[in-house]
Amino acid sequence: MKVFVIDVARCNGCYTCQIVCKDEHVDNDWAPIARPQPETGHFWMKMKEKTVGSVPKVQVQYTPTPCMHCDDAPCIKAGNGSVYKRTDGLVVIDPEKAQGDRTLVDSCPYGAIYWNDKLGLAQKCTGCAHLIDEGKPPRCAEACATDALKFGEEEDFKDLIAKAEVMLPESGTKPRVYYVNLPKKFVAGEVWDPKQDICIEDAAVTLIDKQTNKALTARTDDFGDFWFKGLIGENYSLKIEKEGYYPFEMADIKAGDSINVGDIALKSK
Ligand code: SF4
Ligand code: SF4
Repeated sequence: MKVFVIDVARCNGCYTCQIVCKDEHVDNDWAPIARPQPETGHFWMKMKEKTVGSVPKVQVQYTPTPCMHCDDAPCIKAGNGSVYKRTDGLVVIDPEKAQGDRTLVDSCPYGAIYWNDKLGLAQKCTGCAHLIDEGKPPRCAEACATDALKFGEEEDFKDLIAKAEVMLPESGTKPRVYYVNLPKKFVAGEVWDPKQDICIEDAAVTLIDKQTNKALTARTDDFGDFWFKGLIGENYSLKIEKEGYYPFEMADIKAGDSINVGDIALKSK
């Protein structure tokens, strides 16, 4: 059975996978696997780009997202025979049987299905099943220069899959697209002395997850910066201590997403 394994840490956001998907499918008729993709509005391989934090502590996160080729696919249930799973694991919308059925678009919890007005057809990533049948890889995986996007036999990727995550695990759809190194949140900031107008190096920074009471510690670098990465909590408190200065506390940090708490001025004693 085939899988996609996507290492987000290796993805540089070049968009090649999204572009070659269009090159393969726009104006090309691969029936009975897929009819032509329209020139605009469809992203069968969609690059999701998200900017988190604030200047100067910013990260741009790239997540390539095709159809998840779920083993327990809501689109197959909704299709009443018009959407099927192949023996290699890929999920395909039959262009003839699905003709005119717009309800398929809403059946996918990942938003992976698009409506083609001209053809009156719900369409999505097929995993380039027409190429797989010729012994070739999907265009996106073949084109990825950083090896971030891999496609192949599940067995060959078992080590990567063991440490991978899937999107929306709570939906119970059993995706066949696995993600490694999905971005987590960060809390970052900078500590300085306004009296001397200098960055404060080597200050002790303690971040406490208010839900679990777990404390993480860091020290400010040469520029007074601190970063806590790989976070999953929502609410934190922060304490900064440095000899010769009054301690500073931030009692309530809402980290619904990554956050730069900004420049923190310490008062000297
Ligand atoms: Fe990322 Fe590879 Fe897609 Fe480029 S081709 S955006 S590196 S997954
Ligand atoms: Fe169906 Fe959506 Fe799962 Fe793809 S991601 S198999 S379209 S439910």
